[in-house]
Amino acid sequence: MKFEVPSYKILELPVDNDTATELSSAELLIRQVEQAARTCYKSKTGEMATAKTMFKNLINKKHYAMLEFGNLIFRIEDKDLTDCLLAANGILPRCLYTDVRNEKFYEDRHEGNLKLTYTPLTVDPKKPPITNAACIVSGNLREWLEFFENFENTKIPNQYNIDLSDLKDAVGAATDYLLLDKPNHIRPRRKITQITDVTLLTDAERFIHERFTVRFIADRAFTHELVRMRRCSFAQESQRYVNYFIEKNGGNVPFIKPLFIKDPENLMLYDEIDMAEGSEFRKLLDKQDKSLRVFMKACVDAETAYMTLLYYGFKPEEARTVLPNNTRTEICCCANLEEWRHIFELRACDKTGPAHPQMKELMVPLLKEAKEKWKFAFGDLIPAEIEVK
Ligand SMILES: Cc1cc2nc3c(=O)[nH]c(=O)nc-3n(C[C@H](O)[C@H](O)[C@H](O)COP(=O)(O)OP(=O)(O)OC[C@H]3O[C@@H](n4cnc5c(N)ncnc54)[C@H](O)[C@@H]3O)c2cc1C
Repeated sequence: MKFEVPSYKILELPVDNDTATELSSAELLIRQVEQAARTCYKSKTGEMATAKTMFKNLINKKHYAMLEFGNLIFRIEDKDLTDCLLAANGILPRCLYTDVRNEKFYEDRHEGNLKLTYTPLTVDPKKPPITNAACIVSGNLREWLEFFENFENTKIPNQYNIDLSDLKDAVGAATDYLLLDKPNHIRPRRKITQITDVTLLTDAERFIHERFTVRFIADRAFTHELVRMRRCSFAQESQRYVNYFIEKNGGNVPFIKPLFIKDPENLMLYDEIDMAEGSEFRKLLDKQDKSLRVFMKACVDAETAYMTLLYYGFKPEEARTVLPNNTRTEICCCANLEEWRHIFELRACDKTGPAHPQMKELMVPLLKEAKEKWKFAFGDLIPAEIEVK
């Protein structure tokens, strides 16, 4: 039995074991997907070649959810092509975001009547101009893959009778042709430019097109609430495939230390928790608040039940049934800035009612960090107090 204080990390790139090397933008996308996928199985990132194999396997097995962690943004300067994408918008499971630049931008989005229009780009004087007139379209790798699949299966009406081979080639090239094969024929390339540096976009564009991923280490009650936010992508450690008693998974059931359980001597953070009568730990525990003893006993009983069921031949996916809400888990959550703002409003700012203290324990510091990084998107949000009795 082991306890951990919950935490979060905004996943910056490159991933940990790539720090010494420069990755291409395609390799970064592959790493982002790999990172999420490995969360499920609690496995470690390996060489780039292994990451590419994993990426391909995910596609072959149609485990597309993990592809949602890679984001591809294009500037498209072609009216027919953009019209075609706009027609597909809404048919796709999650739309390819397309920007409009007018004063009613926020209002329109929030009223759900986003109009897709051509307007000349306004160029931020502090940033170099990237185009004269264009449409910015972004989607995660799954959206792009399913877009082409649906298009080829004629689920998307090709009312514009348009040849998408050059767009397909642009998406393929952006992933070193691991996501999509090179098309057999490619029509003369229209102006399709990949944008890898989001700071070249305006703030309004970044609000829609920029996404970031956060890895949370928290309990399963926290993640159950988090996954109710529907415009996100998630990858969570599996209780089906991860056997907590295998050495590489820690060899015991991991729990989260709840902020409202009093733990004056940090008993819950002991490396060795020996609950036997007369043990040093037990002597210390017996001096503590009664609620702490009740809590610890519940955890010990759950761990014992889990271990016993495994001993009787249950699989981890069956034995998990006895584990409590405060079992530790890891989850990666990816969303665009617009959805993160919604998450912060509900889960850090009490917009619709008091959020759970354990939710705010992570979301409030995350919001504070996000306000520094993306002032234009979150600067005006005021985090709520975390109330603990
Ligand atoms: C303080 C608090 C208490 C809560 N208590 C409970 C509870 O007791 N029981 C419970 O079941 N839940 C509870 N929830 C969860 C809550 O009901 C929502 O499911 C959750 O907060 C997600 O909010 P959302 O739907 O606004 O956001 P998201 O799921 O992130 O959706 C974002 C936006 O996408 C659009 N959208 C997404 N899906 C649809 C759809 N299917 N149809 C139409 N529009 C859609 C909407 O515009 C929505 O605003 C609670 C949440 C909070 C913050």
